[in-house]
Amino acid sequence: MIIVMKRGRDRSASDKIVAEIEKVGLKPVPLYGTERTVIAVIGDERALDIHHLSSLPGVDNVMRVLHPYKLASRETKHESTVIKVKNVEIGGKTVVVMAGPCSVESEDQMEKAAAAVKKAGATIMRGGAFKPRTGPYAFEGLGEEGLKIMRKVCDKHDLVMVTEVLDPRDVDLVLKYTDILQIGARNMQNFNLLKEVGKIRKPVLLKRGMSATIEEFLLAAEYIMSRGNHEVILCERGIRTFEQDTRNTLALATVPIVKDLSHLPIIVDPSHGTGRKNLIAPMSRAAIACGADGLMIEVHPNPSEAKSDADQSLNCEEFKKLMIGLAGIIEAVERKL
Ligand code: PEP
Ligand code: MN
Repeated sequence: MIIVMKRGRDRSASDKIVAEIEKVGLKPVPLYGTERTVIAVIGDERALDIHHLSSLPGVDNVMRVLHPYKLASRETKHESTVIKVKNVEIGGKTVVVMAGPCSVESEDQMEKAAAAVKKAGATIMRGGAFKPRTGPYAFEGLGEEGLKIMRKVCDKHDLVMVTEVLDPRDVDLVLKYTDILQIGARNMQNFNLLKEVGKIRKPVLLKRGMSATIEEFLLAAEYIMSRGNHEVILCERGIRTFEQDTRNTLALATVPIVKDLSHLPIIVDPSHGTGRKNLIAPMSRAAIACGADGLMIEVHPNPSEAKSDADQSLNCEEFKKLMIGLAGIIEAVERKL
């Protein structure tokens, strides 16, 4: 951290800052210039509150040198994290594909979806039993019944299961069934939920909030990690912009930016990211080309009857074609499915 004092040589103001820095066990290095004093801080600056320091008399500007997150940062852990769930690795040489319907609706629907996504090459099945809906009258999911159905078909088809948990009170219940817990975009800053999944020992798929900056996204991951759960998979799912032609704006630059800042794996969800099924294939190819560790795709055996996100769900045949079309890109980036 670097603290720039206001013009003038008021030694008492800079002495106070020096004392504040020493109080938290860091080393201040003041440089008394002819016009201003600048104080450099040696040690982990995260122990200092930037807003508090900025408010002190005589302080002109405070600049951070380190990122505000630590455990999620590549500065702390240089090698990329690989998360292993059963026989599936996320963040390694493989590109993982998580596919399945938006919502779990029935055993028949899930059985058909599971068989199709497995055959096409997906290794993880997605599906929501607790659905965050924009309006209060929309289908909210089957709850525990949905979790039971999903566990059954995932076991039958040897698929890893990922499903969303909406409420800290449901974490134990969802944990009983699933392999990976999903935190949805709307809950990315639900700090009580983040703390709760930080206590568990199963991987968490954390989706980017629709108006969250990359720094806030990584701070949300830090919340989970700071409670002891270091198995966080990030997911870019599009952000809100003024654009009307897509449901969200899929911010693919997030992938290389996050790869630079963090060691955590990051996947891309082009279904929610665009809201349009014809954009899923091109955006999936682009995601892999820019370094994503995987994809999350909505697939429904009969999209026109889907209880949620019908417009952005591929049918089984379309999903198969998408997977075939990804092979060349996966090879080009020297990864495998
Ligand atoms: C989902 O994946 O089912 C979902 C609701 O996505 P998001 O949280 O990204 O909107
Ligand atoms: Mn959905």
